[in-house]
Amino acid sequence: MVLPKNKLHSSAARWLILWMVLLCLSGLILFDIYLEHDRLEAREQDRLLVQTRVIAENMESRLASTNLALESIRDQYLGVRGGAPTAELESHLRLLVRVMPGLRTLNIIDAQGRLRASNRSELIGTDLSHREYFQQAKARPDRETLYVSRPFETLLGVYAINVSRAIVGPRGEFAGLVTATLNPDYFRSLMSSVLYTPDMWDAVAHGDGTLFLMQPEREQLRGSNLAQPGSFFTQHRQSGLTATVTSGKIYSTGEMRMMAQRTVQPAVLKMDQPLVIAVSRDLEALYRPWRQNALFQLSVLVIFSTVSLLGMRAYQRHRSRLERLAAQAREQVERFNVALDRIPTYIYMKDRERRYVYANKPTLELFGCTAEELVGSPDTRFFPPEAAARLHEIDSRVLDQGADSAEEVVVDTPDGKRRVYWEIKTPIYEGGDRSRIWGLCGISTDITERKALEERFEQQAHLDYLTGLYNRRHFMEQGETELSRAQRHGRALSIFMLDIDHFKQFNDTYGHKAGDQVLQKLAEVMRGTLRTVDILGRVGGEEFAVLLPETELAEAVEVAERLRLAVEQTAVVFEAGLPQHFTVSIGVTTQRKMETNLDILLSEADRALYRAKEAGRNRVDATTDGAVVDA
Ligand code: GH3
Ligand code: MG
Ligand code: MG
Repeated sequence: MVLPKNKLHSSAARWLILWMVLLCLSGLILFDIYLEHDRLEAREQDRLLVQTRVIAENMESRLASTNLALESIRDQYLGVRGGAPTAELESHLRLLVRVMPGLRTLNIIDAQGRLRASNRSELIGTDLSHREYFQQAKARPDRETLYVSRPFETLLGVYAINVSRAIVGPRGEFAGLVTATLNPDYFRSLMSSVLYTPDMWDAVAHGDGTLFLMQPEREQLRGSNLAQPGSFFTQHRQSGLTATVTSGKIYSTGEMRMMAQRTVQPAVLKMDQPLVIAVSRDLEALYRPWRQNALFQLSVLVIFSTVSLLGMRAYQRHRSRLERLAAQAREQVERFNVALDRIPTYIYMKDRERRYVYANKPTLELFGCTAEELVGSPDTRFFPPEAAARLHEIDSRVLDQGADSAEEVVVDTPDGKRRVYWEIKTPIYEGGDRSRIWGLCGISTDITERKALEERFEQQAHLDYLTGLYNRRHFMEQGETELSRAQRHGRALSIFMLDIDHFKQFNDTYGHKAGDQVLQKLAEVMRGTLRTVDILGRVGGEEFAVLLPETELAEAVEVAERLRLAVEQTAVVFEAGLPQHFTVSIGVTTQRKMETNLDILLSEADRALYRAKEAGRNRVDATTDGAVVDA
């Protein structure tokens, strides 16, 4: 079965809507996942930057105080210039190292690179002229600069950075160095304090890219050069910004990380080289909750989409099955309608209020209305008042008592004709509930012509085909009825028997057809002479009987005589030839005894007829109680 086009359209529209909803939903979820990624990234970048600032601020204040310490030592040393550092200076150095937690060593080195004073007195006299930080300051001595050394291993085997101030003579000549070794242990604990998840690490590098400290410690990386082309460090330095955040693969370790970097080089300190702080997180660990959440949302989306698509498919199947069934039902009803329309019978349905809800085509044609006009109409719209009242009465029986009905209904149409319908009606129940009548359905047939035909047949069965008088059987029936009525009321009743004279001869001479014409003529004369209450019958081939109610014998004999004369004077004209005359003989009798019967009376009349024949024909003879009355 092919579904109609609009059904296909609505089905496609439903699919389209569902797909669009799912696509929008997927778009929203993916967009939200994407935004969440961005939010997470931005938040984490901020957090990492904050951590670098914590370290940087601390480091800057450490450097500032160290710088002050170096300046004060330099001033004090310059005050004792020319002489050896005093014991006072040395104890000052020791005191400073004790009170400043970021410091490890404070040294004064002369222009030749010899250690002149130190908080560690055991080292005094050591030649440090080969140290890079010494060479650096000596090469470009500047009173204002804070020299930051590259990380190096100290005499005591500690990996450290030195910050130094140059001692410059009156004529600008290099006169030595005041230098402080930064305590790596102090920075380690500072750097540890900003790590808030186990996947983090942070680091401090010299401005030239040499890695100084890393927390947690990775021995193998110490001192490695980060200033490689394209490395995070290089990108940060080239950006010219104080702080940057970069994500991706790290040059030195090959890890995937997000890294915030901050350059520490406050202008007031006039550092010749900056320090660079890095705080980083493992990208995998960072995005793990986000990934799990995204996976969860996508799973829910997939499950939801699958369920709704399957649900839609099931719904569509169910719907198309229902539509198919409905279409089949419609087709079936259509077929029934076509069949009912072709049946030449009036078929209709009425509801409980006796209003039409359906009629087949013949009925609509009879009513002269359309199916739409019919619905809701009562019988009074189509039938004259008497017929409508009769239909209403039949309908009530069917609807109120649930009875089947089969009856004739006569309708006098406005054009004066009378039509007869055979109405069959049966109740229609609601659903299968036989206690609730919804309406009725009827098979009505126009039997007007059939009725007329039946009546004609019935009449013909009573009449003689040739003369139109009663045939013998009907005459006998009517005679019996009339006789018993006369006996009941004690009224008179007389009878004739009539026979054509020499009829055989007539037939022989003029033919049988002419004989028939004589018979018809005789019937005509009889009808014209006798009363309408008299009962006339052809009881034999050319023998007739007449019953005269409420007629005494004398009166009957008179009538018979009048009839005989009328026949005698009547001529029959044949197709060829002259008019011919014929005569009849009549035997008359009357009932005297109330218990007599028709057969007795007829045989009495027959006897009288016989005598009339005997007496010469064309005459009337009468009998009463065996007595012969000669007319
Ligand atoms: P009678 O005067 O003694 O009555 O002489 P009849 O010749 O009439 O004798 P009968 O009454 O016995 O004759 C009956 C004749 O009537 C025989 C038959 O030829 C004729 N006959 C009977 N029925 C019909 C009929 O239906 N048509 C015609 N043409 N002749 C009929
Ligand atoms: Mg006869
Ligand atoms: Mg005769």
